[in-house]
Amino acid sequence: MAMIKCPECGKEVSDKAIACPNCAFPIAEAKNDGFIRIKLGTIKSKGISGKQKVTITGDDKILWEGIAGLIAEFKIENSIKVEIEYH
Ligand SMILES: [Zn+2]
Repeated sequence: MAMIKCPECGKEVSDKAIACPNCAFPIAEAKNDGFIRIKLGTIKSKGISGKQKVTITGDDKILWEGIAGLIAEFKIENSIKVEIEYH
């Protein structure tokens, strides 16, 4: 199980969580195939629009790159901490 940082409130949340237990921000849809899917919401309060670049890293490797508003999909094999960074 990986812990990710909630992009809205910054609290650590399990990637298995559908939504952040702290702020209800939608987090991830975890499947049994080892793939993690994270809905990258747009966050108006932080000025994050649909054109914001997003990088997801874990263990100093880039797992996924794209833009906000998409669903990030990547595979992890071990329990790692991933970070979602909005540029
Ligand atoms: Zn949160």
